[in-house]
Amino acid sequence: MPIKQDEEISYDELQTLTKEKDYVPETAGLARGSQGADVDRLQRYLTMFGYVETPVRSDFGLERIEITPPKKGVFDAKTEEALKRFQEFNNLTPTGEMDEPTLELMSKPRCGFPDVGEFTLDGRRWPNTTLTFGYESFSPDLTQAQIRAAIRQALDLWAAVTPLRFNEVPMASNPDIVVRFVAGNHGDGSPFDGASGVLAHAFFPPPNGGSLAGDTHFDEAEAWSVNLPASGIDLVTVAAHEFGHALGLAHSTVSGALMAPFYNGPHRNLEADDIAGIRAIYGTGGGWASLGGIITSNIAATRNADGRLEFFARGTDNALWHRWQTAPNNGWAGWASMGGVITSDPVTAQNADGRLEIFVRGTDNAVWHRWQTAPSNGWSGWASLGGVITSNIATARNADGRMEIFARGTDNALWHRWQTAPGNGWAGWASLGGVITSDPVTAQNADGRLEVFVRGTDNAVWHRWQTAPSNGWSGWASLGGVITGNIATARNADGRLEIFARGTDNALWHRWQTAPNNGWSGWASLGGSITSDPIVVQNADGRLEIFVRGTDNAVWHRWQTAPSNGWSGWASLGGAINGNIASARNQDGRLELFVRGTDNAVWHRWQTAPNNGWS
Ligand SMILES: [Zn+2]
Ligand SMILES: [Zn+2]
Repeated sequence: MPIKQDEEISYDELQTLTKEKDYVPETAGLARGSQGADVDRLQRYLTMFGYVETPVRSDFGLERIEITPPKKGVFDAKTEEALKRFQEFNNLTPTGEMDEPTLELMSKPRCGFPDVGEFTLDGRRWPNTTLTFGYESFSPDLTQAQIRAAIRQALDLWAAVTPLRFNEVPMASNPDIVVRFVAGNHGDGSPFDGASGVLAHAFFPPPNGGSLAGDTHFDEAEAWSVNLPASGIDLVTVAAHEFGHALGLAHSTVSGALMAPFYNGPHRNLEADDIAGIRAIYGTGGGWASLGGIITSNIAATRNADGRLEFFARGTDNALWHRWQTAPNNGWAGWASMGGVITSDPVTAQNADGRLEIFVRGTDNAVWHRWQTAPSNGWSGWASLGGVITSNIATARNADGRMEIFARGTDNALWHRWQTAPGNGWAGWASLGGVITSDPVTAQNADGRLEVFVRGTDNAVWHRWQTAPSNGWSGWASLGGVITGNIATARNADGRLEIFARGTDNALWHRWQTAPNNGWSGWASLGGSITSDPIVVQNADGRLEIFVRGTDNAVWHRWQTAPSNGWSGWASLGGAINGNIASARNQDGRLELFVRGTDNAVWHRWQTAPNNGWS
């Protein structure tokens, strides 16, 4: 049965094709003493998948086993012993006879890696946790972008539960893991077998497998697919399984595990047995975990009045989507849409009475908002606050509890609106003048006065401040510097404001008030080479901590070593992210980060204790 690329293939058809392989027995009933062609097929199956000693086992880095080749075409004691082991490995009754359940299982498509590999800690792990991968060939079944996304998704499953990190490099850079789509005999002693049957195989880490170590081969004769439900063989599933071998895992005897030998259709997640196996080799370090979704904006993260974190982002439908913790410090509800058609990052604020409110720019370039109708509760519909804006929105709460929003107008001046009473109606738009080239950001001085920071046309930082809490505004003043991107602000534990921005050298620079509500230090560099806007958050003990994306697309951070004090060096939190980082503090004081991954899903990592280490 030929497979056309644009044709769907059902699981039944995959089994029919597997039954036609010359290594799959045709009939049940074979037992000790049987002879003939079908015994020969059974012996070939048992040899091919590692139940009889064969040089192929050592090609894949497995130890020798004591079952030597049986007499060809004769169901002898060795054949019986090998068949019993197959049955035991795969949770069938070890009858030692060719019964129906055994025949059924042998007719399933599977991985070409031999079974019966006892896991050992010696020589089966990569010496580093940052690994490279590259493509020697692609499959014409899918676009290169689809293949890259599927391979990335598969690798990310392992990265999410370990310290392992994967970077794609060109073949010229000699990647650790070489991905190939190949048909038939392709030079490694384990030829592929046409459609169905063996789907793929991969080789253990060095020193096993020599130059093949870590390499992952997919049978090009398969109809590879990435859609769900699958129209062919699901590439994400098979790749995730094969990368398990490339990282040092043998086949699992747990039938529901991703690392079990047989393909039963899409299975794009790790099971407990897979996670335990990979963590036994590499440890638990790498705490980024996926919250799914496909988002197209930066994330806004906040905490509800009742302590539950919630975050917001734009979906591929340009509507606003959100997820929330079902209890403080706890697990997450599924994604839900808040509708709308939005053209900016979302921003959140909290009303004086604890109700969250969210602000976005609409397709009409006006500001639109929705608000919780009660603290930690349901939401109003969308309402327009008018205006025509050209930046993301900044929010602040005045000392008297009134919310205030800021954005750049079409005249590039800074405009604002404010609640006329806490939690209440809004005044009209008013201009604060200036000519600005960034999103505005706000901070609140220790004495309650709001202060707003922007980048000017000279790329310096400019600011204005309320002359009294909840009151009128000073004129514009420059804080100098030459910055790229948006500014981050925070208030130190001792009440002094501090600002952070990326310089033209891509290092992080900062200035701080020399006393609360007062004058400013000069600019100082915190070094680094950053590729996002910085964000700054306050730990439960008052120490500021800053997060940026590095040139490696990982999250990097520095933190004050004591409240209002000096700074640690840079450290990586790993990950592979798009855009800016969002953070919120759990009710129990633990910081949590939210990022858009390179797969456009939301990923998060959290402190395992307040002020402390990371998941
Ligand atoms: Zn396998
Ligand atoms: Zn191969």
